[in-house]
Amino acid sequence: MAEIVLDGITKRYPDGALAVRDVNLTIADGEFVILVGPSGCGKSTTLNMIAGLEDITDGTLRIAGQVVNDRAPKDRDIAMVFQSYALYPHMSVRDNMGFALRLAKADKATIAAKVEEAARILDLTQHLDRKPANLSGGQRQRVAMGRAIVREPKAFLMDEPLSNLDAKLRVQMRTQIAALQRRLGTTTVYVTHDQVEAMTLGDRVVVMRAGVVQQVGSPQHLYDE
Ligand code: ADP
Ligand code: ADP
Repeated sequence: MAEIVLDGITKRYPDGALAVRDVNLTIADGEFVILVGPSGCGKSTTLNMIAGLEDITDGTLRIAGQVVNDRAPKDRDIAMVFQSYALYPHMSVRDNMGFALRLAKADKATIAAKVEEAARILDLTQHLDRKPANLSGGQRQRVAMGRAIVREPKAFLMDEPLSNLDAKLRVQMRTQIAALQRRLGTTTVYVTHDQVEAMTLGDRVVVMRAGVVQQVGSPQHLYDE
């Protein structure tokens, strides 16, 4: 678990586009923060800078007290969950979920135990030997989350993880993500353009518009006015 601090974070793409401008935000240890706003306002760019997938043009990013601006994604101890599940089609659910631990050369017994624990939490125990193609959308999304949680990262970063699901599954998964985050208590930053997700999921909502933070507050505070 970890605090994430964005201090004057700015992103200018090589073509000159100023995508994110002077974002100042402290995300507390264990907090669930939603980044919301219309398409193109800079949500994904902000998340990708936290993940280390985009360079930071200006400003300082700290994770757990350490400046990480120049650290590679794998050295930031955070896990990203994307909308496109990006599962390996030829691998079983078990192997997909254990992949990062195998890369990190964890021993087999540890990997098996962590994968089984994550599968229990995510209700995937009966599906461990199946391939992604034989799962429903919601099950695939849960495998993607399982892949993130087995690493026990300091933080989860989620970019529209539910946008490929139908409306009914989305509601169901929303509840499951909120419950999972409470149970694990892992600092989470969740990007969405969906007001309902913003209202129901997080502890705090950050509203972005045209590259800047427009408003920050609790869901009740922001939406009851
Ligand atoms: P979203 O709105 O869900 O963030 P986009 O469709 O805006 O997705 O972006 C999808 C991909 O295209 C991202 O990898 C993003 O970096 C890239 N992209 C978005 N806008 C531009 C742009 N103006 N020039 C180049 N790449 C872009
Ligand atoms: P959001 O996630 O809120 O939809 P993005 O962070 O994807 O917004 O994009 C913010 C702005 O940066 C947009 O104007 C987009 O066109 C631009 N942008 C995103 N990715 C790139 C890129 N790779 N190159 C140039 N411009 C980009």
